[in-house]
Amino acid sequence: MMLPIGITCGTQEGLCLMRLSWDYIKAIERAGGLPVPLMFFQRDSARKAIKMIRGLVLSGGGDVDPFHFGEEPRPGCGEISPYRDENELGLVRLALEAQMPILGICRGAQVLNIALGGNIFQDLGMKGGELQEHYQKAPAYLPYHQLRINKGTLLGKISGGETALRVNSFHHQAIRKLGEGLIISATTSDGVIEAVESIHSPFVLGVQWHPEAMAGKNLPGGQELFDALLEAAACYR
Ligand code: MN
Repeated sequence: MMLPIGITCGTQEGLCLMRLSWDYIKAIERAGGLPVPLMFFQRDSARKAIKMIRGLVLSGGGDVDPFHFGEEPRPGCGEISPYRDENELGLVRLALEAQMPILGICRGAQVLNIALGGNIFQDLGMKGGELQEHYQKAPAYLPYHQLRINKGTLLGKISGGETALRVNSFHHQAIRKLGEGLIISATTSDGVIEAVESIHSPFVLGVQWHPEAMAGKNLPGGQELFDALLEAAACYR
């Protein structure tokens, strides 16, 4: 049986459109899952959907409204999608409550962190110190910067015990204060948090890079994340 995996969508809210890269769909299918794009206008629909799916992918996208982590907008804060924020924060809270396997990607890692009471740098310029470039001007599949993976983590296990991993990078924000129950699974050498995971759940992982863009190229840090999600989904319920 193909396990249904929910996936949140981007929006173009002025035009009442939802949008989603095919790469996510392909990566979930390759892992043996049935991709189910999710978008709701009623809270009750989200609750029903959470009962039907076996895992949740939070896709990448623009910035979360700083209102959701108790801040006023700062210089460098980018485009905001109010409806998407509400939809995803609602879904991820329900999924966490249900102990469902969750893979948060880029914005999705930040959404996961914010849903658990953490916050983010509205722009990496706020971080201070000597920063690496985190927005590559190179094809999306191309591994761009190196991560150090923390030993004993879920990400370390998925990566076959490797402690170094080169991944792509398309973000100008990053996790700042960790949400409740989250630990750091990987960082770049400038101290930017590149992956987090929950100590309260068998599979709740947020990654700052875009594994779906690397997944078709057989590169480490790509498809195996979706494969691991599907393995967790098979053990769920
Ligand atoms: Mn990065």
